[in-house]
Formats: sequence, C-alpha cells, structure tokens
Amino acid sequence: MTPSYSLAIHGGAGTILKSEMSPEKEVAYTKALREALDAGEVILKKGGSSVDAVIAAVSSMEDCPLFNAGRGAVFNAVGGHEMDASIMDGSNRMAGGAAGISGIKNPICLARDIMDKSGHVLLIGEGAMAFADAQGYERMPADYFHDAFRYAQWKDVQGTDAMQLDHTVKDRKFGTVGAVALDQQGHLAAATSTGGMTNKKFGRVGDSPVIGAGTYAYDLTCAVSCTGSGEFFLRGVVAYDVSCLMEYKGMTLQAACDEVIQRRLMEIEGDGGLIAVDALGNIALPFNTEGMYRASVKAGQEVFVGIYG
Ligand code: ASP
Repeated sequence: MTPSYSLAIHGGAGTILKSEMSPEKEVAYTKALREALDAGEVILKKGGSSVDAVIAAVSSMEDCPLFNAGRGAVFNAVGGHEMDASIMDGSNRMAGGAAGISGIKNPICLARDIMDKSGHVLLIGEGAMAFADAQGYERMPADYFHDAFRYAQWKDVQGTDAMQLDHTVKDRKFGTVGAVALDQQGHLAAATSTGGMTNKKFGRVGDSPVIGAGTYAYDLTCAVSCTGSGEFFLRGVVAYDVSCLMEYKGMTLQAACDEVIQRRLMEIEGDGGLIAVDALGNIALPFNTEGMYRASVKAGQEVFVGIYG
C-alpha cells in the first residue's frame, strides 16, 4: 500500500500576470517552489512528522531571495527588516510565533523553538531576539538581507504613508511563504513566514505570526497557511475560520476555503489566498488575486506547480 501523506506550499499571492513574467523568472520561481516541496516531501516519504516537513519546506523558501521571507524580506518604513513567522502542530494544537524580529536566518525555526521551548505562544521584537540569543541563534549581518530589488521597491514609497503588499509594488516581487502537511501518522501541521509589507510602519504585525489568522492546524479538521494583505486576514481570523466551517458546519475543505477566500474575505475587500490540507489528505489552494505561487504533492501522485490563476 502506498504510504499516505500530502504537502502544499505557497510563495505569496497577488497580481501575478503571465504577461509580466519573463521566462527566466518563471523558471526560477518554479525551480524554487519545486526545491521547497521536495525538501518537505523527502521527510514525509520516509515517515517523518508534518512539523518537520513544513519547517523544511518553509526554511528552503526563507533561504531563497525570490520570496519575501528570511533572506528576501522586504524593507519597512525605516529601512529595516522586521520578520514574522509561526507554526502550529495539529496533533496537540501547540503553536509558536515570532513577530518583529530581525537578523534571524530562518524565522520559522525560531517559531518552532518558541513552540517547543519557551512556554509561550508568541514572542515579539527584543524579547523574541533575547530568546533567540539564549537558544544560540546566529545574528546574520544586515547585508545578508539586502536585496537590490527589495531596496528599490522600498525607495519607491519611502517617506510616504503607502504601505504596500509585496505583490502590489511596481516590480511585483512576491511573497510570504507557507507550508501545510499531513504526515503518515495522520498528523497535520502548518507554517508561515514573511517579511510583511513594504514600507510597513515600524512595529506593524501582520497575520502571519498570529495563530488563527495566518496559520492554523488541527488534526480533526485541517492545516492552513495564508498570504495576502494581513490586516484583512487578521480581521477575518481566516485560517481558523476555515477550520471552524469544517468542524461546526461539516463543510468539505474545498467548500470551506471557497467560502472564506471567495466570499467572506471579499466582503471586506481582502485580497490574498491560502493553502490547506485536511485530515484525509485533500488539498485546496484558493486565492482571489490574479495568481499565487503554489505547489503540492500527494503520496504516489505527480507534483503540481502553479503560478497564475
Ligand atoms: N500576510 C503578509 C502580511 O500581511 C503579507 C503577504 O502575505 O504577502 O504581513
């Protein structure tokens, strides 16, 4: 019998149009998504945990400057990087998040350590950094995160009040990253990591590190990781909403995702998407934007990689 597992990842949702994508860029994104998916699948294939799999997939994208997370994080209003990340283990509903951190190569690993070792769920700013220091995290130099493309994006809006989603800026470079997985033991996990929004106010926190908004996992329902304008995802408590619709209304994963992304989020003019997997291994990848970098795989099946709508 083929072992059963499922994995999905995203690299941000937004105005991604084929007409504006060069063939080279498309190849680079496809390759990066494929690499991240492979990093997670290897773990699931050999019976590893969904938590380990989502960490591997998200770390891979955090290391790739194409995505707005880790190395490729966008600049905030004062020309710095403040990153957010979170993870949730659906088997025990343990969760960890870090908000407003800088200098950490893989924020998702810090979120996991916060879940496993801090006795708390969410640490922010200086406190999160002190915890990282105590755990022996290396502080990366500022130039590790300096990307000429991101810098130009920020320069375009520096000094204005415009807070831009990574995908609404001129060059349309995406995006927050995330992964959701079902492992062979039947456990679900979700992880999300981001640099947030270009020119965001110093101290602004989006949905990505907030459990229930940007990330949620519960073995009885689903695992969800979101991407889009964080303020709307916070107001919509989007990731938890998908789980609630399945739990309380008995909806299928796809129906719950469509209800949340295509109706409830649109009602408040929220733009973005999510990736989700349920306890049966079904996968849903809904978005209400032109595109979303995404990829998924189920045990024994072909890998799917998508960019446009
Ligand atoms: N949700 C992220 C935030 O608001 C941004 C994104 O997904 O692109 O920080």
